Amino acid sequence: MRKVAVECRKIGLSYGRTEVLRDVNLRIEPGEFFALLGPSGSGKSTLLRLIAGFNRLDRGELLVDGRDITAVAPHARNIGMVFQSYALWPHLTVFDNVAFGLVERRLARDEIRRRTEAALDLVGLRDFAQRRPNQLSGGQQQRVALARTVVIEPQVLLLDEPLSNLDKNLRVTMRQELLALQRMLGITTIFVTHDQEEAMTTADRMAVLDCGVVQQVGSPSELFDFPVNRFVASFVGTTNLLDGVLSADGTDAVRFDTAGAGSLRLPRTAETPPPGAAAMSFRPHALQMQAVDAVRDPALLWLTGTVEAAEFLGETTRYRVRVSTVALTADQVHFGGTPKFADGTTVALGVAPSQLRYLPT
Ligand code: ADP
Repeated sequence: MRKVAVECRKIGLSYGRTEVLRDVNLRIEPGEFFALLGPSGSGKSTLLRLIAGFNRLDRGELLVDGRDITAVAPHARNIGMVFQSYALWPHLTVFDNVAFGLVERRLARDEIRRRTEAALDLVGLRDFAQRRPNQLSGGQQQRVALARTVVIEPQVLLLDEPLSNLDKNLRVTMRQELLALQRMLGITTIFVTHDQEEAMTTADRMAVLDCGVVQQVGSPSELFDFPVNRFVASFVGTTNLLDGVLSADGTDAVRFDTAGAGSLRLPRTAETPPPGAAAMSFRPHALQMQAVDAVRDPALLWLTGTVEAAEFLGETTRYRVRVSTVALTADQVHFGGTPKFADGTTVALGVAPSQLRYLPT
């Protein structure tokens, strides 16, 4: 099957006076596994339902394969959608649930059987064909919902929080299955989630939404390493944010006077913004924590603080360290048998300048 692109051009949608989507511009490439990530209420489902044709758009254009489909009815769009609730027919067998879309399209019986069996094979449920949905586990129901959608061979697959009804372990297995299936079929897939781990582990690229506005689009590592604003920096992973004022300090360096955590002298780079108010983000694992009197690596920038709390997570320990009036989060890799820094200990926190990101205030 030919892979198609999906394009949103300046899309806007309002409910009454509330703008739920504002000037959404996105291009999802043919065959891409694309995640829409954002907190609850950010407009993810509204956008997905708009692509499916269940929501009308007020402004802008929606193109699939270069064709404006704004006026095309949902059933004529050749787009498959898997709902959060799965929406299986309880009184039909697994086979009949999967065959449903083909029966509706009045295909020949033989073709219905062949394609339904192929879809059941694809999700490993051939042996469950005669069961009813309530005789299946959550993960199996999810697979039926997927089989029922891919059997109609849609050009675009839309998934609305497809894993949120499953328990944690199953979610991890199912997201791998989902990705493997998507890769095998090569269908352009748009996946809605509020779970950044889910988006990061599966998506080729993702868009982060907040209040109906696309904040940033990119690969998971681009968004994690180069967030464009405070929202993305905090929503994709955990981060430390420092506000302050930047001023020149010679030709090669700048001084960042933080609001509450002292001053840092930083090398001037192409990314250094002009003097004035600035904010800075750095990840908890980028901080190196050591006893205050230990030898300090001169390549790092150093702050001194006091341990306020520690959470032991197994692989790492997450510390909250107070540096003057600011609380920073520092993740330290844990090695068997090594003691943790006790609450109240004064520690030195080092960070490489390359790990600091300037953000707009
Ligand atoms: P998300 O999927 O990111 O949780 P939604 O797209 O469901 O967010 O909702 C975005 C915003 O639109 C929310 O503020 C929600 O209350 C509002 N909204 C969604 N559907 C309707 C509707 N049918 N009528 C009015 N407001 C709605």
